[in-house]
Amino acid sequence: MDLIHPASAADVMDAMSDANASGRRLLVVGRRRHLDKGNPADVDAELWTTQLDRLVSYEPAEMIVVVEAGMRVGELGRVLAEGGQEWPSDAPPEATVGGVIASGASCVRRLKIGALRDTVLEIRAVTGDGRLIRSGARTVKNVTGYDLHKMVAGSLGTLAIVVAATQFLAALLLQDFADNTARAAGFIAGVVISPIIFLGAALLYEDQVARLRRR
Ligand SMILES: Cc1cc2nc3c(=O)[nH]c(=O)nc-3n(C[C@H](O)[C@H](O)[C@H](O)COP(=O)(O)OP(=O)(O)OC[C@H]3O[C@@H](n4cnc5c(N)ncnc54)[C@H](O)[C@@H]3O)c2cc1C
Repeated sequence: MDLIHPASAADVMDAMSDANASGRRLLVVGRRRHLDKGNPADVDAELWTTQLDRLVSYEPAEMIVVVEAGMRVGELGRVLAEGGQEWPSDAPPEATVGGVIASGASCVRRLKIGALRDTVLEIRAVTGDGRLIRSGARTVKNVTGYDLHKMVAGSLGTLAIVVAATQFLAALLLQDFADNTARAAGFIAGVVISPIIFLGAALLYEDQVARLRRR
């Protein structure tokens, strides 16, 4: 099987045009964590997105990041943590952003932060005949055009190859969680070593001993 390892959107366009012209079936591959989902089919070549891993822009004040599709979730997390933000996907660190979007897998915090596809503001993608398309915009409030990018989220690579995406970010909940955990631990430790607790335990113990003696 052929392996295609594009380093740019233009390489992806060339690969798709060639495949389209020759009738070869391509499977787009990120880090292979979710390849068994959907309806796996026989293919002639794999197109790996892992070289498309650049950070295009990060604007913490706008809570927006633009990355190429092959960027690892873990690497993106490290960049965003410096701005006190995260892309709330909870996917494994080695998964690619494009793979997570194409899988459409929301994280367990979905009820609080919404579905994964709603964090995708814009995508740049290459169609089956090798054209580069853009859907959405690098802004949260955008009502122009069709939400094709929402359709691509969860399409498992069947509609287009995502080459870059703009994502809406959240404040780093993990930090809140860590702070809350530290506060909770401090509170519990305070309660456990409190003299009132010791006194209460001693009284209970005495009461139990007295009851046993009476039997
Ligand atoms: C909360 C949570 C926890 C998870 N925990 C785990 C876990 O513990 N272990 C685990 O293995 N997975 C886990 N997953 C799933 C994991 O997120 C997916 O496996 C991941 O999204 C796939 O990324 P990948 O780069 O490996 O993509 P791949 O597995 O390589 O591809 C996944 C699908 O997307 C398509 N695709 C890939 N890249 C693109 C692209 N650029 N454009 C278009 N289509 C593309 C592929 O053709 C394939 O259909 C979890 C997901 C969530 C939300």
